[in-house]
Amino acid sequence: MKKKGWAAAGVIAFISLLVLLSAFFSGRSEQPVPDDETARHLADGQTDQQASDGKPDGTNAEYDLELQMKEDGTFQVSAVIGVANDSADTWNEIGFYLVPNAMNALDTQFYRDDHAEVEISALQVDGETADYTLDNNELMVALETELERGAVVEISIDYSLELPKEGMRLSQVEDNFYLAQWYPMLAVYDDGWNIEDYDSKGESYDTAYGNFIVSYQLPADYLVASSAEDGVIEAVSSGKLEGDNYKDFYIAFMDSEEWETAAAQAGDTNLRVFAPKGTGVLEETTALASDAYRYFEQHIGDNPFGELDIIANDGYMEYPNIIEVATEEEALDAILVHEIAHQWFYFLVANDPFKEAWLDESLAEFTTALFLSDRHGDADSGFQYAVSIQASYPPETYLNFPLDEFDEAKYYSTIYGKGPLLLKEFFDGRGGREAALEFLSAYYTGFQFKRVDSEAFKVFFEDYFEGDQSEFLDSWLK
Ligand SMILES: [Zn+2]
Repeated sequence: MKKKGWAAAGVIAFISLLVLLSAFFSGRSEQPVPDDETARHLADGQTDQQASDGKPDGTNAEYDLELQMKEDGTFQVSAVIGVANDSADTWNEIGFYLVPNAMNALDTQFYRDDHAEVEISALQVDGETADYTLDNNELMVALETELERGAVVEISIDYSLELPKEGMRLSQVEDNFYLAQWYPMLAVYDDGWNIEDYDSKGESYDTAYGNFIVSYQLPADYLVASSAEDGVIEAVSSGKLEGDNYKDFYIAFMDSEEWETAAAQAGDTNLRVFAPKGTGVLEETTALASDAYRYFEQHIGDNPFGELDIIANDGYMEYPNIIEVATEEEALDAILVHEIAHQWFYFLVANDPFKEAWLDESLAEFTTALFLSDRHGDADSGFQYAVSIQASYPPETYLNFPLDEFDEAKYYSTIYGKGPLLLKEFFDGRGGREAALEFLSAYYTGFQFKRVDSEAFKVFFEDYFEGDQSEFLDSWLK
């Protein structure tokens, strides 16, 4: 995500107000059974994960999700999820994030009068009704039979879902439905299920790559944009989407009367852009997105996916193959480019966004600033946002703190300000932008479809540069 409050003009006094306001306005902030082939696919996947290049780390979930929208705008979801135990342990439970369950005043400060409604009507493990607990965004499913290493189990969950109005990310705005974090997302297992309480100031959920089949049925025709390849832009009332190696699956259903759309080709990738009629940002958004996407492919590395959807709904958020960007002219550059950069740093190189948000946020902002400066023909102007946000509040010494240990203003000034600026300073003394892009390209190539942490970054960094870099790295990574 990028913090709302464009601040590009660098009006510092304005920033602290925006930081406060952001708390209120940021973002919106009967099933086919996996067949033997699926089971084999899952079981094979876990034998050589983390091994060869280009093989996603920890792809141990096959999602088959059916979405049905009713006339009143509520959804009925049937999720069938094949899960392979890819850990060294035997499992007696499986953990999912069910984020909408935490979108209420009791669990999350952001929600006051507004909330999401989730009600599970059936939950089965391999066809048998199973016990579960649901607390905040943590859904723990009990396994009656222990799941051995390498074994596969199928979990079916049926539930109803009502979106918050003007919610954070998962949101219904009039007749537009933005479905983020709407399905049970398999958590990451690392000596235990790694599930944190929902925290609306960043991305508190951590998911591995998964394979998806998503089908939808709607009571009328809607424009559809999703993490999968949706193809030609047209209003439809049903469809089936498929795709592999997505870190997460987002889908939007939009009122075709409200939006104007455009498409552009950037290399092998089709960019599809949706902007509300009357905002006047469609053309500029399309042109800039195309330039930025091509720049990142050229300087950082090829993006293997064929479609990127861009929705101008002031969501300020990244998802695999789809982003939510600004409708205000003033915010267009800084937000659009940042969210596109996340396709490389967050999606194609993955990290735990709760524990180490800097790995995707600081690198996305750094990359954005390099592109914008180059576009403006100088070395610094793209860093205006980082300079402003760092000046808005004293940053932390260390960047790799978990989300819940940062207070909000410090989080933004450290992750979006200090992070990109300290990298800029480092590269300014070592060949500038060109050297920085070369480094990012090597890093991207080394870690594509893999998960990184600060330690892996440090090792790579030390390896890449001659001489001991520990003094520099230890000054901002603990
Ligand atoms: Zn971001």
